[in-house]
Amino acid sequence: MTATPVISINDISYKYDGQKSYALENVSLSVRSGEWLAIVGHNGSGKSTLAKILNGLQFPESGSVVVEGLELTIDTIWDIRRLVGMVFQSPDNQFVGATVQDDVAFGLENNGVPYQLMKTRVLDALDRVQMAEFLNQEPHHLSGGQKQRVAIAGVIALRPKVIILDEATSMLDPLGRDEVLKTVRHLKDEQGLTVISITHDLEEAAKADRMIVMNQGKVYKEGTPHEIFKLEEELIGLGLDIPFPIKMANELSKKGLHMPESYLTDEELVNELWTLHFNK
Ligand code: ADP
Ligand code: MG
Repeated sequence: MTATPVISINDISYKYDGQKSYALENVSLSVRSGEWLAIVGHNGSGKSTLAKILNGLQFPESGSVVVEGLELTIDTIWDIRRLVGMVFQSPDNQFVGATVQDDVAFGLENNGVPYQLMKTRVLDALDRVQMAEFLNQEPHHLSGGQKQRVAIAGVIALRPKVIILDEATSMLDPLGRDEVLKTVRHLKDEQGLTVISITHDLEEAAKADRMIVMNQGKVYKEGTPHEIFKLEEELIGLGLDIPFPIKMANELSKKGLHMPESYLTDEELVNELWTLHFNK
């Protein structure tokens, strides 16, 4: 992982027509090339608005967005959409093709990619999300996890730098969620894809390289999962939850056990309990 920002957001604000308050207010942040950035925040905190701006679906009212050195303007919008792909929450509302391969081909066709190259790219993308055997199937027959993986194939066929998952696993069962996250993690490792994941899944956020907490249209905090989840009561005050092992460690320290760290996974907590308290 390098420190080069793939996206810089400089002091952007956005207000929807007819709304009194800003959906985003003076937001600045940068996204590092190759990182997994988790964005958390209560409903209505501006996460999806931020995602739509990064994908060029909406323009900020003020401030600027720069992706790979390109500033988001009306002239660069198609380049930006190719560089920053997006997968949405509902697996059913993002299909445009009659078959899996048509669906993945859609973005390439729009970009004027020649037929033979398009065919290769579609197969390659489906292969990477382990959906190649479904290429002639109708999308509505697939499971939720399979649909989201086809949606990811449609994004990666365009060879983006960044993929944004906007609660893309929230409607899936645990198995589907695992399939999708594993697929994205693999793409990140293999191709250096940068991942921005907007999520309510604490276990997933705990595994991110970095986290951003949004609150009322602003960046409330930025840090590693350890730094963020250490805020505990503060997060709960913002309407967010904290991972189970942290809660458990808090209860144990109230009972007088010395618990020096914050524990993000069950394994970390169990190992610490074992070494500090039971293995004497
Ligand atoms: P999140 O994704 O964090 O739940 P959103 O970005 O969807 O938050 O919403 C931020 C704010 O903008 C909220 O107050 C929401 O009500 C408002 N908002 C979102 N979409 C629209 C819209 N299409 N029209 C008007 N207001 C909207
Ligand atoms: Mg949202």
